[in-house]
Amino acid sequence: MSGPRVLVIDDEAEIGELVVSAAQLCGFVGEAVTNAQDFRAKLADFKPGLLVLDLQLPDIDGVMLLRELAERGSKAKIIIMSGFDSKVVESARQLGIGRGLDIVAMVQKPIRIKELCELLKSMVVEEEVVIDGAAIATGISTNAFWLAFQPKVGLANAVNGGIADRPVGFEALLRWQHPSRGFIPPTEFIPAAETSGQMARLTEHVIELALGQVRAWEQENLFPTVAINVSASDLHATDFADGLVARCRGYKVKPERLMIELTETATMSDPVLAMDILTRLRIMGFRLSIDDFGTGYSSLVQLQRMPFSELKIDRAFVADCHKSPQARMIIKTMVDLAHNLGLSAIAEGVENNEILETVRNLGCDEVQGFGIAKPMPADEAGLWFRRALEAGEPKVAAAT
Ligand code: C2E
Ligand code: MG
Ligand code: MG
Repeated sequence: MSGPRVLVIDDEAEIGELVVSAAQLCGFVGEAVTNAQDFRAKLADFKPGLLVLDLQLPDIDGVMLLRELAERGSKAKIIIMSGFDSKVVESARQLGIGRGLDIVAMVQKPIRIKELCELLKSMVVEEEVVIDGAAIATGISTNAFWLAFQPKVGLANAVNGGIADRPVGFEALLRWQHPSRGFIPPTEFIPAAETSGQMARLTEHVIELALGQVRAWEQENLFPTVAINVSASDLHATDFADGLVARCRGYKVKPERLMIELTETATMSDPVLAMDILTRLRIMGFRLSIDDFGTGYSSLVQLQRMPFSELKIDRAFVADCHKSPQARMIIKTMVDLAHNLGLSAIAEGVENNEILETVRNLGCDEVQGFGIAKPMPADEAGLWFRRALEAGEPKVAAAT
C-alpha cells in the first residue's frame, strides 16, 4: 500500500483504530499504537509524516512525548488530540511549537469523524526523515557530509606590535546534505550522533575529510592551519591520539597543521582520561582550543590543568561588545586569563568592523566571524586564503 503515512498513539485502542480508518478514507496509510515503546519502534520503521498524539498515555505523558520528538529532530506534522480542556491542550501546543515541532492542529475529544476527515484531506504530508544513528551511518557511506571552512585571521594590535592582519587558517564545520531533507545543520545532527553512538565514526570521517583537504592545499602551496571540532565523547577512547597520528601519517600531514577544538559545554565523564588524551595530543604536536569559552562549566582548575593552546571566546560575549561595557570587561578578563596561562585568545562571531576593532583593542590575537567571511566550500576557501595572503590584510565586510 502506498500513500502518506500517519501514526496514531492513543491508550484506547478503539480510538486509535477509528482515527486510522478515517485516515485511510482520506488516502493515508495508517497505524495505531497504545504505548510509547511501540510508538518509538514504529517511528523508526514506518517513518510517518503525520503523527496524531493523545496527551494522556499510560507510560509517558504528552508533554514528555513532545519533548522526545523535538530531541530526535522530528519534522513530522503533528495533530494533538485530547480530552483535556482547551487550556491544557493549548499550553501543550505552545510547548511543542517552542521546541520547533510542526504542530498543525488540535482535535478535541470526543472525535467528530467528519471534522477529522476534512482536516486530514487538507494536509499534504511527506515521509518523515528520522535523524538517527542509521541515517548518519548512511550519510557517511554515501558521502553526504562535507566540510565548510571558515577563516581565522591573526590580528595586528598594540600588544603584539604586528603591522598587518594575516590569514592563519580555517575552522572546518561539518555540513550534511540529506537526499530528502536537504541541508541539516550540525546543531541538529551532532546531538543525534552523540546519543546514537555514531560520534566516533563521524569524527573519524571529519578527520579524513580535513586531512585530505590539508594535503590538497599543501599541493597547491597553501598552508592554512585547519581546526576540527571534537566532541568530549571522542575523548573516551584511549587510542584517539594514536589513531589521529596514524591518519596524519597516511595523508603525509604534520600534526602541527591541525588544531583540535573541544567545546567547553561538552561534559567529560572521565576528566582524567580526557586529560591523558589531550596531553598526548599536545606532545604529538597537535594544537588544542577550548571552544565557546564562557558558556560551559569547565572550572578554572580544569583550564589550568588541561594543555590548551587557544581559548575561543564564545560569540555570546562578542556579539554586542561594541555596545556593552560589561561584554568588553568580560572579554578583557578572558583575554588576560588566556595570556596569563600562555594561551592565545580568539574571538568568534565577529560580525562587523566595530566588533573587530573592539576585540583588537581588547588584545585578542585572532578573530573569526561572518564579518570576515562565512564558512565556504573548500575551493572557495582556498581562493579566499590565497587572495587574503596577497592583499596582506583580510577585508572586513561593512557593518550590517
Ligand atoms: P562552533 O564550533 O562554535 O562553530 C562556530 C559556529 O558559529 C558555526 O556554526 C559558524 O557557522 C557560526 N558562526 C561563525 N561566525 C559567526 C558569526 O559571525 N555570527 C554568527 N551568528 N554565527 C557565526 P555551525 O557551522 O552551524 O556549527 C555549530 C556547531 O556545531 C559548532 O559550533 C560545533 O560545536 C558543532 N560542529 C560543527 N561541525 C562539527 C564537527 O565536525 N564535529 C563536532 N563534534 N561538532 C561540530
Ligand atoms: Mg568550533
Ligand atoms: Mg564556538
